[in-house]
Amino acid sequence: LLQLYQPLNFLGVVYRELRQSLTDLENIQGLLSLRPEIEDVPGARPLVVRGGTVRFENVHFAYDERRPILKGVSFEIPAGHKVAVVGPSGSGKSTLVRLLFRFYEVTGGSITIDGQDVRAVTQLSLRRAIGVVPQDTVLFNDTVAVNIAYGRPGASREEIEAAARTAQIHDFIASLPEGYDTRVGERGLKLSGGEKQRVAIARVMLKNPPVLVLDEATSALDTRTEQALQEALERVAAGRTTLVIAHRLSTVIDADEIVVLEDGRVVERGTHAQLLARHGLYAEMWRRQQEVREEAEPGGMVPA
Ligand code: ADP
Ligand code: MG
Repeated sequence: LLQLYQPLNFLGVVYRELRQSLTDLENIQGLLSLRPEIEDVPGARPLVVRGGTVRFENVHFAYDERRPILKGVSFEIPAGHKVAVVGPSGSGKSTLVRLLFRFYEVTGGSITIDGQDVRAVTQLSLRRAIGVVPQDTVLFNDTVAVNIAYGRPGASREEIEAAARTAQIHDFIASLPEGYDTRVGERGLKLSGGEKQRVAIARVMLKNPPVLVLDEATSALDTRTEQALQEALERVAAGRTTLVIAHRLSTVIDADEIVVLEDGRVVERGTHAQLLARHGLYAEMWRRQQEVREEAEPGGMVPA
């Protein structure tokens, strides 16, 4: 029995890993034909997005009932606004995103988009309405063009190039010997983390969702790369309801609101300036990140 159990257990681990690492799970479920654990409720209707206001209302959640992870989290992202969630590692930031996608169900409270509970709408419509630029973008063993078009199968070459331009990766692609027909992925050209993120931005441009989630990479990019990427992210976020899960606080300065999460609770909220003035957790995180930057760039010089 143990012999039978172990491979099954292993598959379970692999599945959980996939579910964890890929917020853009619509992809993987389609790809591997995994049966979603969470089913549409009988009579579920498609989500109807008007402005795209996202609301977390007293959200409670635990992966394991003995260990609560979210303990009554409330905040709202008004249509077209940008809200950032920051906080120490393990505070529950990525869990919020998993719940928004309904990869898991809240155990208390609710998450709504334009007043519709995510549990009441079809998962297909929910996942169509939300675009993600994940921490770690998965590329298929196929051409650059196909990888970008994944955001909207059937997109024309012109549309793909336009999306790549916005994502600031067109020039790079055009410089490759085979251009958009270059094969990438495990068995093709390897792209850097920043390049992969740009592919993800281009995908989202094509998908054109009203709600956008940016789950920032933890790894620090160099300042120049970060600035260029930041511009691309700002372009894709413009006019969309945007939830940013941020590690680099420099990228959330312009957020309409910053929500500071600690141990599953909102401990502070406000604009960057308001939070600095509070001299609380955010101000402390900010100070520490500034120190790290100065160490990385002696004299605080930013390369032009
Ligand atoms: P953050 O994104 O803020 O770093 P997460 O939302 O990923 O934090 O995780 C919050 C907490 O939930 C962490 O303590 C983490 O270990 C735990 N956790 C995350 N995923 C699972 C899971 N699938 N099963 C059990 N615990 C989990
Ligand atoms: Mg996380």
